[in-house]
Amino acid sequence: MTKIIIYVSILLISLKASAINYENLKPFPLNALTQEEVRVIKDKGTERPFSGKFYKHKESGTYTCKLCDAPLYKSSSKFDSGCGWPSFDDEIEGAIKRVKDADGRRIEIVCARCDAHLGHVFEGEGFTSKNIRHCVNSISLNFESDKVEQYKKAYFAGGCFWGVEYHLEKLDGVKSVESGYMGGKLENPSYRDVTKGNTGHLEVVEVVYDSNIVDYETLAKLFFEIHDPTQKNGQGPDIGAQYLSAIFTSNEKEKKIVQNLFKILESKGFDVATTLREKVQFYKAEEYHQDYYEKHNKQPYCHTYKKIF
Ligand SMILES: [Zn+2]
Repeated sequence: MTKIIIYVSILLISLKASAINYENLKPFPLNALTQEEVRVIKDKGTERPFSGKFYKHKESGTYTCKLCDAPLYKSSSKFDSGCGWPSFDDEIEGAIKRVKDADGRRIEIVCARCDAHLGHVFEGEGFTSKNIRHCVNSISLNFESDKVEQYKKAYFAGGCFWGVEYHLEKLDGVKSVESGYMGGKLENPSYRDVTKGNTGHLEVVEVVYDSNIVDYETLAKLFFEIHDPTQKNGQGPDIGAQYLSAIFTSNEKEKKIVQNLFKILESKGFDVATTLREKVQFYKAEEYHQDYYEKHNKQPYCHTYKKIF
């Protein structure tokens, strides 16, 4: 009996430890939504039954909030209720908030972190042994597969994106590099908007790489070696807020790698001006900016390789 009590206590403690405390996770970035997503997530609408992309979805992984990326449901809780919307009989602890629906009858469920509308929860229908059905709009969700992703994305800003793209494209394992804008509030900015220097956007490249061939650290090191991370007002002759040096990270692992590289650079005497930021929406630049030097058969004017590491 004592043994059982100990086991149960350990189980309860470990469950508690894995619960999410969203207060600690604030502030968090919110993703941009399409009109249809706003209709459901903000205005509490409902997608047509049998129309959502996760209705029949069966992959192993985690369903996350479309608006704030918080993990909400594990695929192991998903079941087929035949109702036309994804159904779950359990939530990730602490991830879901229940509120009385405006109709006075149903219980609405929202993301505990950002209040995004998800759907409704019903009890006592007898579908599964837990006797609960979270009826969730697919459009309120994203999905992160348990499979290790082979192709990953990395984001760097080091002045004029033509030169950054040119050098990073040459690295083994890099599948593609696209020039674009990130960091500002203006949606779908044009080059003309960004050149004004007041949109908050930086010229950024999106690198897609094969993680079986090259890792994030190698990419980040090369980024430092092809531009001057100590220049504070731009890069080379390009002066302005849109030319500042920055790395936009997508997760804690990348963040730690960059912080470690900052330390190494400082120990080598670099007064690092590069800022570390969280990845936000990437907007691809106009077609004539893509592969600029390749298309024009020229060499970058302000990016050269200089070994540091
Ligand atoms: Zn959320």
